[in-house]
Amino acid sequence: MKVQVVENVLRANDELAAINRGDFERAGVFVVDLIGAPGSGKTALIEATLKAMPDVRFGVIAGDLATQRDADRMAKFTNHVVQINTGKTCHLEASHVRQAMAGLSLDAIDLLFIENVGNLICPVGFDLGQHCKVGVFNVCGGDDKAAKHPYIVRESSAIVLTQVDLMPHVNFRQQVFLDDVKTLNPSAPVFALSPITGTGLESWLKWLETARAGVRRGEGRKL
Ligand code: MG
Ligand code: ZN
Repeated sequence: MKVQVVENVLRANDELAAINRGDFERAGVFVVDLIGAPGSGKTALIEATLKAMPDVRFGVIAGDLATQRDADRMAKFTNHVVQINTGKTCHLEASHVRQAMAGLSLDAIDLLFIENVGNLICPVGFDLGQHCKVGVFNVCGGDDKAAKHPYIVRESSAIVLTQVDLMPHVNFRQQVFLDDVKTLNPSAPVFALSPITGTGLESWLKWLETARAGVRRGEGRKL
């Protein structure tokens, strides 16, 4: 019976995620679910992206157990920010996103980032209605993290390796990381970048723009 309950919970989540996705597609909003460990640089990546693309109307749903600090940071770049506090829950579910959507005008947004709760594991298993998931890794986290977290690597449409400006100060073998990603998900592009120095940011922005254009043409599911 227990298994049955878990299945029902996941089915309910998937049904709500499909409703979210329908609303996003009707409004022409491209939705990216950013998944990475705490401190991996998800918020800094979003800040740099918003700053670098002033012509795009961004929205952000920020998921954290507590505080509205991330929303406060990103509110400097867009008016369309909703913070979700999950309390003790270590991932976002479609119902969280649904609640957040009530506070957003989808018609005023082109690209919505969902910054998931800092966690490389269970956020991967919950469909939120996004068009794609992007796995965020940082050089301080170590070069073994892709291999240790195959689920997020396989489910991601793109991988960001951030904080590369710190590379000289840490023992990170970039080729090891890149080889592990290639083995797990050969088609995912890897963007090695630094929101601080701007290194590598351009290719990431280009990928986002291209992916967004694809969704506008109805190719979102092919990502
Ligand atoms: Mg954050
Ligand atoms: Zn969780």
